[in-house]
Amino acid sequence: MSTIELRKVTKRFGSFTAVKDVDLSVAAGEVVCLLGPSGCGKTTTLRVIAGLERVTDGEIVVAGKVMNNLPPEKRDIAMVFQFYALYPSASIAENIAFPLYHDGISGAERTARVNRVAAILHLEHVLDRLPNQISEGEKQRAAMARAIVRDPNCFLFDEPLSRLDVELRQTMRGQIKEVLQGLSKATVIVTHDQLEALTMANRIAIMKDGLIEQVGSPHEVFAKPANAFVASFIGTPQMNLLEADLKTFADGTADMTVAGTSLAIRTDAAVARLQPGKVTIGVRPRAFTPTDTGDRGTISARAELIEPMGAETLIHARTAAGADIRVVVTRSQRVKVGEALNLRPDPRQTHVFDGAGKAVRS
Ligand code: ATP
Repeated sequence: MSTIELRKVTKRFGSFTAVKDVDLSVAAGEVVCLLGPSGCGKTTTLRVIAGLERVTDGEIVVAGKVMNNLPPEKRDIAMVFQFYALYPSASIAENIAFPLYHDGISGAERTARVNRVAAILHLEHVLDRLPNQISEGEKQRAAMARAIVRDPNCFLFDEPLSRLDVELRQTMRGQIKEVLQGLSKATVIVTHDQLEALTMANRIAIMKDGLIEQVGSPHEVFAKPANAFVASFIGTPQMNLLEADLKTFADGTADMTVAGTSLAIRTDAAVARLQPGKVTIGVRPRAFTPTDTGDRGTISARAELIEPMGAETLIHARTAAGADIRVVVTRSQRVKVGEALNLRPDPRQTHVFDGAGKAVRS
Protein backbone atom coordinates (compact mmCIF):
# COMPACT_ATOMS: atom_id res chain seq x y z
CA MET A 1 0.00 0.00 0.00
CA SER A 2 1.42 3.39 -1.00
CA THR A 3 1.43 5.47 2.19
CA ILE A 4 3.78 7.94 3.86
CA GLU A 5 3.85 8.58 7.57
CA LEU A 6 5.99 10.99 9.55
CA ARG A 7 6.03 10.28 13.28
CA LYS A 8 7.36 13.08 15.47
CA VAL A 9 10.05 13.89 12.90
CA THR A 10 12.72 16.39 13.93
CA LYS A 11 15.68 17.52 11.83
CA ARG A 12 18.45 19.61 13.33
CA PHE A 13 21.42 21.14 11.53
CA GLY A 14 23.89 21.70 14.37
CA SER A 15 22.00 23.71 16.96
CA PHE A 16 19.37 24.88 14.45
CA THR A 17 16.10 22.95 14.32
CA ALA A 18 14.72 23.07 10.76
CA VAL A 19 11.83 20.62 11.33
CA LYS A 20 10.20 20.14 14.74
CA ASP A 21 8.16 17.17 15.87
CA VAL A 22 6.25 16.84 12.62
CA ASP A 23 3.43 14.30 12.44
CA LEU A 24 1.87 13.77 9.03
CA SER A 25 0.27 10.87 7.22
CA VAL A 26 -0.45 10.68 3.52
CA ALA A 27 -2.85 7.99 2.33
CA ALA A 28 -2.65 6.05 -0.93
CA GLY A 29 -3.91 8.23 -3.76
CA GLU A 30 -3.69 11.35 -1.63
CA VAL A 31 -1.79 14.51 -2.58
CA VAL A 32 -0.55 16.57 0.36
CA CYS A 33 1.10 19.94 -0.28
CA LEU A 34 3.61 21.36 2.18
CA LEU A 35 3.05 25.10 2.00
CA GLY A 36 4.76 27.89 3.87
CA PRO A 37 7.10 30.85 3.66
CA SER A 38 10.74 30.58 2.63
CA GLY A 39 12.89 28.76 5.20
CA CYS A 40 9.98 27.15 7.09
CA GLY A 41 11.32 23.61 6.56
CA LYS A 42 9.34 22.32 3.56
CA THR A 43 12.26 21.07 1.49
CA THR A 44 14.01 19.62 4.53
CA THR A 45 10.85 17.62 5.31
CA LEU A 46 10.80 16.31 1.74
CA ARG A 47 14.51 15.46 1.86
CA VAL A 48 14.18 13.43 5.05
CA ILE A 49 11.32 11.45 3.49
CA ALA A 50 13.50 10.78 0.42
CA GLY A 51 16.48 9.82 2.58
CA LEU A 52 18.65 12.68 1.30
CA GLU A 53 18.93 13.85 4.93
CA ARG A 54 18.88 11.69 8.04
CA VAL A 55 16.26 12.49 10.64
CA THR A 56 17.54 13.61 14.03
CA ASP A 57 14.52 12.16 15.81
CA GLY A 58 11.29 10.40 14.92
CA GLU A 59 10.37 7.91 12.21
CA ILE A 60 9.75 7.96 8.47
CA VAL A 61 7.39 5.15 7.52
CA VAL A 62 6.67 4.33 3.86
CA ALA A 63 4.21 1.60 2.93
CA GLY A 64 4.25 0.48 6.58
CA LYS A 65 8.06 0.09 6.77
CA VAL A 66 10.38 2.29 8.83
CA MET A 67 12.83 3.89 6.40
CA ASN A 68 15.16 5.74 8.77
CA ASN A 69 18.23 3.65 8.04
CA LEU A 70 17.65 2.98 4.35
CA PRO A 71 19.54 4.96 1.67
CA PRO A 72 17.42 6.87 -0.91
CA GLU A 73 17.72 4.20 -3.62
CA LYS A 74 16.30 1.52 -1.30
CA ARG A 75 13.20 3.55 -0.36
CA ASP A 76 11.29 3.05 -3.61
CA ILE A 77 10.31 6.71 -3.70
CA ALA A 78 10.48 8.90 -6.81
CA MET A 79 11.44 12.52 -6.36
CA VAL A 80 10.90 15.22 -8.99
CA PHE A 81 13.08 18.25 -8.39
CA GLN A 82 12.62 21.90 -9.23
CA PHE A 83 15.74 21.67 -11.42
CA TYR A 84 14.99 18.59 -13.47
CA ALA A 85 18.14 17.45 -15.23
CA LEU A 86 17.54 15.69 -18.51
CA TYR A 87 20.59 14.20 -20.25
CA PRO A 88 21.15 16.63 -23.15
CA SER A 89 22.56 14.07 -25.60
CA ALA A 90 19.91 11.39 -24.95
CA SER A 91 16.47 11.31 -26.58
CA ILE A 92 13.39 11.93 -24.43
CA ALA A 93 12.56 8.20 -24.68
CA GLU A 94 16.04 7.32 -23.36
CA ASN A 95 15.77 9.93 -20.63
CA ILE A 96 12.46 8.47 -19.47
CA ALA A 97 13.83 4.91 -19.70
CA PHE A 98 16.93 5.68 -17.67
CA PRO A 99 15.72 4.32 -14.29
CA LEU A 100 14.67 1.11 -16.07
CA TYR A 101 18.19 0.52 -17.47
CA HIS A 102 19.35 0.96 -13.90
CA ASP A 103 16.84 -1.65 -12.68
CA GLY A 104 17.88 -4.08 -15.46
CA ILE A 105 14.49 -4.12 -17.20
CA SER A 106 14.60 -5.68 -20.68
CA GLY A 107 14.17 -4.03 -24.10
CA ALA A 108 10.55 -4.89 -24.94
CA GLU A 109 9.28 -4.32 -21.39
CA ARG A 110 11.26 -1.07 -21.27
CA THR A 111 9.74 0.23 -24.50
CA ALA A 112 6.24 -0.73 -23.37
CA ARG A 113 6.64 1.11 -20.07
CA VAL A 114 8.09 4.23 -21.72
CA ASN A 115 5.23 4.30 -24.22
CA ARG A 116 2.68 3.89 -21.44
CA VAL A 117 3.94 6.84 -19.37
CA ALA A 118 4.49 8.92 -22.53
CA ALA A 119 0.79 8.42 -23.31
CA ILE A 120 -0.24 9.43 -19.77
CA LEU A 121 1.85 12.61 -20.00
CA HIS A 122 1.13 13.41 -23.66
CA LEU A 123 4.74 13.04 -24.75
CA GLU A 124 4.40 10.51 -27.60
CA HIS A 125 5.23 13.12 -30.24
CA VAL A 126 8.56 14.15 -28.64
CA LEU A 127 10.00 10.73 -27.69
CA ASP A 128 12.67 10.83 -30.45
CA ARG A 129 13.73 14.42 -29.82
CA LEU A 130 16.57 15.76 -27.69
CA PRO A 131 15.81 17.86 -24.57
CA ASN A 132 16.80 21.10 -26.34
CA GLN A 133 14.20 20.38 -29.03
CA ILE A 134 11.18 20.41 -26.69
CA SER A 135 9.36 23.09 -24.69
CA GLU A 136 9.75 23.81 -20.96
CA GLY A 137 6.37 22.24 -20.19
CA GLU A 138 7.35 19.10 -22.13
CA LYS A 139 10.67 18.97 -20.26
CA GLN A 140 8.83 19.10 -16.95
CA ARG A 141 6.47 16.35 -18.10
CA ALA A 142 9.47 14.26 -19.26
CA ALA A 143 11.01 14.63 -15.79
CA MET A 144 7.74 13.47 -14.31
CA ALA A 145 7.54 10.56 -16.76
CA ARG A 146 11.01 9.47 -15.65
CA ALA A 147 9.80 9.46 -12.04
CA ILE A 148 6.61 7.52 -12.81
CA VAL A 149 8.13 4.90 -15.12
CA ARG A 150 9.56 2.74 -12.32
CA ASP A 151 6.14 2.56 -10.65
CA PRO A 152 7.56 3.59 -7.26
CA ASN A 153 5.75 3.42 -3.95
CA CYS A 154 5.17 7.16 -3.68
CA PHE A 155 6.09 10.52 -5.18
CA LEU A 156 7.78 13.64 -3.86
CA PHE A 157 7.78 16.89 -5.83
CA ASP A 158 9.93 19.88 -4.90
CA GLU A 159 8.49 23.12 -6.34
CA PRO A 160 7.67 21.30 -9.59
CA LEU A 161 6.33 24.33 -11.43
CA SER A 162 8.48 27.17 -10.18
CA ARG A 163 10.57 27.38 -13.36
CA LEU A 164 7.58 27.67 -15.67
CA ASP A 165 5.85 30.86 -16.77
CA VAL A 166 2.45 31.79 -15.34
CA GLU A 167 0.35 30.41 -18.19
CA LEU A 168 2.21 27.12 -18.38
CA ARG A 169 1.97 26.71 -14.61
CA GLN A 170 -1.76 26.95 -14.81
CA THR A 171 -1.96 24.23 -17.48
CA MET A 172 0.59 22.01 -15.72
CA ARG A 173 -1.23 22.26 -12.37
CA GLY A 174 -4.26 20.66 -13.94
CA GLN A 175 -2.21 18.09 -15.83
CA ILE A 176 -0.18 16.99 -12.78
CA LYS A 177 -3.35 16.72 -10.73
CA GLU A 178 -4.99 14.57 -13.38
CA VAL A 179 -1.95 12.28 -13.72
CA LEU A 180 -1.62 11.86 -9.95
CA GLN A 181 -5.32 11.05 -9.61
CA GLY A 182 -4.85 8.18 -12.02
CA LEU A 183 -1.83 6.71 -10.18
CA SER A 184 -3.26 6.12 -6.65
CA LYS A 185 0.08 6.84 -4.93
CA ALA A 186 0.81 8.84 -1.81
CA THR A 187 2.31 12.14 -3.00
CA VAL A 188 3.91 15.06 -1.21
CA ILE A 189 4.41 18.33 -3.09
CA VAL A 190 6.45 21.22 -1.73
CA THR A 191 5.40 24.67 -2.83
CA HIS A 192 5.37 28.22 -1.59
CA ASP A 193 2.60 29.10 -4.04
CA GLN A 194 -0.78 28.88 -2.35
CA LEU A 195 -2.68 28.71 -5.63
CA GLU A 196 -0.65 25.64 -6.55
CA ALA A 197 -1.45 24.05 -3.19
CA LEU A 198 -5.13 24.99 -3.26
CA THR A 199 -5.62 23.56 -6.75
CA MET A 200 -3.47 20.39 -6.60
CA ALA A 201 -3.77 19.13 -3.02
CA ASN A 202 -6.32 16.94 -1.30
CA ARG A 203 -4.88 18.32 1.94
CA ILE A 204 -2.49 21.17 2.70
CA ALA A 205 0.01 21.17 5.57
CA ILE A 206 0.90 24.77 6.39
CA MET A 207 4.35 25.14 7.95
CA LYS A 208 6.05 27.93 9.86
CA ASP A 209 9.43 27.82 11.61
CA GLY A 210 9.72 24.03 11.25
CA LEU A 211 6.26 23.33 12.70
CA ILE A 212 3.06 22.27 11.00
CA GLU A 213 0.50 24.92 11.93
CA GLN A 214 -2.51 23.20 10.38
CA VAL A 215 -3.34 20.30 8.09
CA GLY A 216 -6.65 20.35 6.28
CA SER A 217 -8.45 20.33 2.97
CA PRO A 218 -8.07 23.47 0.84
CA HIS A 219 -11.55 24.49 1.96
CA GLU A 220 -10.80 23.91 5.68
CA VAL A 221 -7.58 25.92 5.78
CA PHE A 222 -9.30 28.78 3.96
CA ALA A 223 -12.64 28.78 5.80
CA LYS A 224 -11.52 27.52 9.22
CA PRO A 225 -7.94 28.65 9.79
CA ALA A 226 -6.57 27.27 13.07
CA ASN A 227 -4.69 30.46 13.90
CA ALA A 228 -3.92 33.98 12.75
CA PHE A 229 -0.81 32.88 10.82
CA VAL A 230 -2.74 30.41 8.64
CA ALA A 231 -5.54 32.96 8.26
CA SER A 232 -3.18 35.58 6.91
CA PHE A 233 -1.13 33.13 4.81
CA ILE A 234 -4.06 31.61 2.88
CA GLY A 235 -6.26 33.74 0.64
CA THR A 236 -5.58 36.68 -1.65
CA PRO A 237 -5.80 39.51 -0.95
CA GLN A 238 -4.74 38.69 2.60
CA MET A 239 -7.26 38.50 5.43
CA ASN A 240 -7.45 41.68 7.54
CA LEU A 241 -6.28 41.05 11.09
CA LEU A 242 -7.49 43.84 13.36
CA GLU A 243 -6.70 44.34 17.01
CA ALA A 244 -9.80 44.44 19.16
CA ASP A 245 -10.63 45.04 22.82
CA LEU A 246 -12.98 42.45 24.18
CA LYS A 247 -15.34 43.01 27.10
CA THR A 248 -17.35 40.04 28.33
CA PHE A 249 -20.43 40.38 30.51
CA ALA A 250 -21.97 38.15 33.15
CA ASP A 251 -24.99 37.41 30.95
CA GLY A 252 -22.73 35.69 28.39
CA THR A 253 -22.69 38.53 25.89
CA ALA A 254 -19.56 40.34 24.73
CA ASP A 255 -18.65 43.62 23.18
CA MET A 256 -15.70 44.38 20.95
CA THR A 257 -14.04 47.62 20.09
CA VAL A 258 -12.19 47.52 16.79
CA ALA A 259 -10.23 50.48 15.48
CA GLY A 260 -12.15 52.82 17.78
CA THR A 261 -15.57 51.41 16.79
CA SER A 262 -17.75 49.30 19.01
CA LEU A 263 -18.68 46.35 16.82
CA ALA A 264 -21.71 44.15 17.06
CA ILE A 265 -20.07 40.76 16.77
CA ARG A 266 -21.93 37.52 17.09
CA THR A 267 -21.13 36.24 20.56
CA ASP A 268 -21.04 32.52 20.98
CA ALA A 269 -20.00 30.36 23.89
CA ALA A 270 -16.37 30.20 22.75
CA VAL A 271 -16.05 34.00 22.50
CA ALA A 272 -17.89 34.55 25.79
CA ARG A 273 -15.42 32.24 27.58
CA LEU A 274 -12.46 34.40 26.52
CA GLN A 275 -10.72 36.54 29.11
CA PRO A 276 -11.49 40.23 28.50
CA GLY A 277 -8.60 42.05 26.86
CA LYS A 278 -6.83 42.14 23.51
CA VAL A 279 -7.99 39.77 20.80
CA THR A 280 -7.64 39.82 17.02
CA ILE A 281 -10.51 39.68 14.62
CA GLY A 282 -10.02 38.44 11.08
CA VAL A 283 -12.15 39.62 8.17
CA ARG A 284 -11.43 38.71 4.55
CA PRO A 285 -11.43 41.64 2.10
CA ARG A 286 -14.54 40.27 0.41
CA ALA A 287 -16.42 39.93 3.74
CA PHE A 288 -16.96 43.70 4.15
CA THR A 289 -19.96 45.53 2.78
CA PRO A 290 -19.54 49.30 2.34
CA THR A 291 -22.73 51.03 3.56
CA ASP A 292 -24.00 54.61 3.09
CA THR A 293 -24.41 55.37 6.76
CA GLY A 294 -22.26 54.39 9.69
CA ASP A 295 -23.76 52.71 12.73
CA ARG A 296 -22.83 50.27 15.47
CA GLY A 297 -21.46 47.42 13.44
CA THR A 298 -19.60 49.43 10.84
CA ILE A 299 -15.98 50.58 10.84
CA SER A 300 -15.25 54.07 9.51
CA ALA A 301 -12.25 54.36 7.23
CA ARG A 302 -10.95 56.48 4.38
CA ALA A 303 -9.96 55.09 0.97
CA GLU A 304 -6.22 55.67 0.48
CA LEU A 305 -5.39 53.66 -2.62
CA ILE A 306 -7.54 52.01 -5.29
CA GLU A 307 -6.26 49.00 -7.26
CA PRO A 308 -8.44 47.83 -10.18
CA MET A 309 -8.27 43.99 -10.47
CA GLY A 310 -10.53 43.44 -13.49
CA ALA A 311 -14.04 42.48 -12.35
CA GLU A 312 -13.23 43.61 -8.80
CA THR A 313 -11.48 46.54 -7.15
CA LEU A 314 -9.13 46.36 -4.18
CA ILE A 315 -9.40 49.33 -1.83
CA HIS A 316 -6.71 50.09 0.74
CA ALA A 317 -8.45 52.06 3.50
CA ARG A 318 -7.27 53.49 6.82
CA THR A 319 -9.27 54.08 10.00
CA ALA A 320 -8.89 57.23 12.11
CA ALA A 321 -7.11 55.02 14.66
CA GLY A 322 -4.51 54.14 11.98
CA ALA A 323 -5.54 50.56 11.16
CA ASP A 324 -5.12 49.52 7.51
CA ILE A 325 -8.00 47.59 5.96
CA ARG A 326 -8.15 45.88 2.56
CA VAL A 327 -11.60 45.70 1.00
CA VAL A 328 -12.62 44.10 -2.29
CA VAL A 329 -15.71 45.45 -4.03
CA THR A 330 -17.18 44.79 -7.46
CA ARG A 331 -16.06 47.08 -10.26
CA SER A 332 -19.49 48.71 -10.41
CA GLN A 333 -19.19 49.98 -6.78
CA ARG A 334 -17.21 53.09 -7.63
CA VAL A 335 -15.00 54.40 -4.83
CA LYS A 336 -12.63 57.39 -5.06
CA VAL A 337 -9.38 58.03 -3.20
CA GLY A 338 -10.13 60.10 -0.08
CA GLU A 339 -13.74 58.93 0.14
CA ALA A 340 -15.12 58.11 3.61
CA LEU A 341 -16.30 54.49 3.88
CA ASN A 342 -18.46 52.69 6.40
CA LEU A 343 -17.42 49.07 6.31
CA ARG A 344 -19.69 46.41 7.72
CA PRO A 345 -17.97 43.07 8.38
CA ASP A 346 -20.20 40.07 7.80
CA PRO A 347 -20.61 38.74 11.38
CA ARG A 348 -20.85 35.16 10.08
CA GLN A 349 -17.48 35.54 8.38
CA THR A 350 -15.68 37.27 11.22
CA HIS A 351 -12.93 35.12 12.73
CA VAL A 352 -11.81 35.66 16.32
CA PHE A 353 -8.28 34.82 17.53
CA ASP A 354 -7.21 34.89 21.17
CA GLY A 355 -4.18 36.75 22.55
CA ALA A 356 -1.88 33.91 21.36
CA GLY A 357 -3.34 33.99 17.83
CA LYS A 358 -5.28 30.71 18.21
CA ALA A 359 -8.67 30.62 16.51
CA VAL A 360 -11.52 30.88 18.98
CA ARG A 361 -14.06 31.03 16.22
CA SER A 362 -13.55 30.41 12.54
P1 ATP B 1 12.36 27.67 0.54
O1 ATP B 1 10.90 27.88 0.21
O2 ATP B 1 13.10 28.96 0.60
O3 ATP B 1 13.00 26.62 -0.29
P2 ATP B 1 12.00 25.80 2.76
O4 ATP B 1 10.73 25.97 3.52
O5 ATP B 1 12.04 24.68 1.78
O6 ATP B 1 12.40 27.17 2.10
P3 ATP B 1 14.27 24.52 3.95
O7 ATP B 1 15.10 24.47 2.71
O8 ATP B 1 13.67 23.26 4.41
O9 ATP B 1 13.15 25.64 3.83
O10 ATP B 1 15.17 25.13 5.12
C1 ATP B 1 14.67 25.27 6.44
C2 ATP B 1 15.75 25.94 7.28
O11 ATP B 1 16.84 25.02 7.46
C3 ATP B 1 16.33 27.20 6.63
O12 ATP B 1 16.54 28.14 7.66
C4 ATP B 1 17.63 26.71 6.04
O13 ATP B 1 18.59 27.76 6.01
C5 ATP B 1 18.04 25.62 7.01
N1 ATP B 1 18.85 24.58 6.34
C6 ATP B 1 18.48 23.82 5.30
N2 ATP B 1 19.47 22.96 4.94
C7 ATP B 1 20.49 23.20 5.79
C8 ATP B 1 21.82 22.64 5.94
N3 ATP B 1 22.24 21.65 5.16
N4 ATP B 1 22.59 23.16 6.93
C9 ATP B 1 22.15 24.14 7.73
N5 ATP B 1 20.92 24.70 7.65
C10 ATP B 1 20.10 24.24 6.69
